[in-house]
Amino acid sequence: MNKNTTITQQILIAMAIGLIIGSLINTFADANEWIKSFIVQGIFHVIGSGFVNALKMLVVPLVTFSLICGVCGMGDIALLGRVGFKAFGLYLMTTGLAVSLALIMAILINPGQGFQQNTALLSEFTPKPSPPLTDVFINIIPSNPIQAFAEGNMLQIIFFVILFSIAMLMTGEIGKQLAKGAEKLNEVMMQVVMLIMRFAPIGVFCLMGKTFAEQGIGLIIPMIGYFVVVVSCLLIHSLGIYSALLLLFARVNPLIFFKKMRSAQIFAFSTASSNATIPVTLKTVEQQLGVNRSTAAFTVPLGATVNMDGTAIMQGVATVFIANVYGIDLSLVQYLTIIAMSILASIGTAGVPGVGLIMLAMVFNQVGLPVEGIGLILGVDRLLDMVRTAVNVTGDATVTVIVARGEDEIDLSIYNGADTPESTLPKGN
Ligand code: ASP
Repeated sequence: MNKNTTITQQILIAMAIGLIIGSLINTFADANEWIKSFIVQGIFHVIGSGFVNALKMLVVPLVTFSLICGVCGMGDIALLGRVGFKAFGLYLMTTGLAVSLALIMAILINPGQGFQQNTALLSEFTPKPSPPLTDVFINIIPSNPIQAFAEGNMLQIIFFVILFSIAMLMTGEIGKQLAKGAEKLNEVMMQVVMLIMRFAPIGVFCLMGKTFAEQGIGLIIPMIGYFVVVVSCLLIHSLGIYSALLLLFARVNPLIFFKKMRSAQIFAFSTASSNATIPVTLKTVEQQLGVNRSTAAFTVPLGATVNMDGTAIMQGVATVFIANVYGIDLSLVQYLTIIAMSILASIGTAGVPGVGLIMLAMVFNQVGLPVEGIGLILGVDRLLDMVRTAVNVTGDATVTVIVARGEDEIDLSIYNGADTPESTLPKGN
């Protein structure tokens, strides 16, 4: 590829080609066993999943070292508390806004009204039993930190690392030496991120190729009403509400924000996982949007777990849709329950593909809707998962910028400066 093409352009092109080739396979070669097993389940699957694994591999060490650097860099426990409080509050607020917008839009448009319940569309869905809500809070404290690290349980890791870093601050000289070590390890990890990013175009191409070869665009047709309402809400929320919040609370130009968020959004879209996107989100907010590492290291991983605005939107629309399909009238109390449940459910669940549906089962149980109804929206969920994950990640970055601006932890010359996505390439390239 042309040397002047930036890494983001390369990824964008790879994404588009993957989408086209995948859709072509789905339309014209669906019956061809060789293409299915050798290309789709072979090459696309192996390279795509390998790339996602490589991204996930970075998450735990990157979050650990950068969080240690972040807390030690703040040097002040009160400041840490303030940043945490603001970020958490804003995350809850944006999710509340998201699900409310989704409910209002869905009630106005009423998708699913008069929908002929098509049993062919009702794919198998067996909901996993959802944990009681109290466990969400208890489980923030890891009974075994090694297990938390091994399982990549983000909230537990954040809890332990913050506690550990606070103790480092309290131990003075010993803590300072350790912090220097963490700085160095963090640098090295960033270099590992850059190495993995070199493979991003091919990884993204295979992920897109596989998804579209399996799903095809045709699946959307019978569910078009539901699909369009969810996607419209996602667009209004990200372009409208995030822009307004950025203008109002951070007093920065949202256009620059969206332009620079492209790579993170593409990664979120093709991996459908906010967790796997953490390395890219962190790099973007630090290097492109100018947020200080101490703030970003804390708010980005926190957001990947507790903030899922896109997912909340899907839940709001899905609830109204299924209620309409089954001809059930929802009361005001049920609507309020949906809002509360969507916010609470997003706190304890990790940003991984498809988790939104499990959370949806929790919401349905709570408001008494038939959980089998989820089978109806299963077919289009993978595509929607991709779009809503991009929104989830954009929400994490929006809150990060707002918090950083409030704490004067953002370098506006970097924020307003040139778009340099090529910084994702290893140095000396
Ligand atoms: N895939 C989403 C995320 O990682 C969660 C979901 O909506 O399923 O943020």
